[in-house]
Amino acid sequence: QVSRMPQHPMDGDQDVASPFGLPDITEQALLEAIEQDQFTMVYQPKIACRDNSVVGFEALVRWQHPEGGLIRPDHFIPLAESLDMIDPLTDVVIEQSLGWVATMQYLPSLSLAINLSAKTLVNHEFADRLAARCLEKSVKPGRITLEMTETAAMEDSVMALELLTRLRMKGFHVAIDDFGTGYSSMVQLARLPFSELKVDKSFVMTAASSEEARTIIHSTVELGHSLGLDVVAEGVEDGNALAFLKTIGCDYAQGYYIARPMPTHHVTGWLNARQA
Ligand code: C2E
Ligand code: CA
Ligand code: CA
Ligand code: CA
Repeated sequence: QVSRMPQHPMDGDQDVASPFGLPDITEQALLEAIEQDQFTMVYQPKIACRDNSVVGFEALVRWQHPEGGLIRPDHFIPLAESLDMIDPLTDVVIEQSLGWVATMQYLPSLSLAINLSAKTLVNHEFADRLAARCLEKSVKPGRITLEMTETAAMEDSVMALELLTRLRMKGFHVAIDDFGTGYSSMVQLARLPFSELKVDKSFVMTAASSEEARTIIHSTVELGHSLGLDVVAEGVEDGNALAFLKTIGCDYAQGYYIARPMPTHHVTGWLNARQA
């Protein structure tokens, strides 16, 4: 084994999976990682396009692997799903994120988004357990948005309707993530009780250079609004994209141009610097 330069696990949240290749990820490795607290969260701000104010954060999981370095979720979430380990991992994510929101009670207007796996659709206790965790931590469900990808929701729209309805009844918000990458039937989409639509970053990242992308974003914003949804654009990487989103009336924006996902100890400093 080659030795590595020590570095703070999340500073800058650079796109490094591991310079030495990824370690083998097994069920055992995931279990150990949970036991040894190797999963941590970073939080990416979401702003209102109207006035640039910060409205909330999205929680994104990272695996600080003892040999593999910092591993991005795309490398282990699909494995956790196929190894039937996603429920315990989601528990860790929820525990840490709610714990953090609980410490932010002095900023009661900020919301938190948590990503859900498609596998959570078949977890019938999920909504009740999440509500119980919120109660324990004195976090109002109205501050929490659960994000589910368009593909997950469409794969089993009957189960999606059931889970989303339960979540809405408890006061949570639900967002449709990665919108535009799947094959939604408009009828099914309109029947699901989403409160928010997230335009996939593949369109937003190319908004500045591609007229086609701008057309897709513009019609998605109109579609979302006509269904009564708030629209979020993710993947805002430059000022031109943000300016375009403002002109078409997109509600919220997220992206590296605004801020990269950051560890909790950077959040207060970042918020203060924005206000200054
Ligand atoms: P996502 O939910 O679509 O999250 C957005 C991803 O885009 C994040 O990658 C984020 O770091 C990245 N991103 C944000 N702004 C920009 C930008 O301006 N440009 C570009 N190129 N990328 C940007 P990340 O953190 O690697 O997460 C990847 C995916 O892994 C997420 O996509 C989500 O589907 C999944 N994921 C992350 N955290 C969790 C989790 O706690 N639970 C579950 N089930 N899935 C998670
Ligand atoms: Ca998301
Ligand atoms: Ca997304
Ligand atoms: Ca995604």
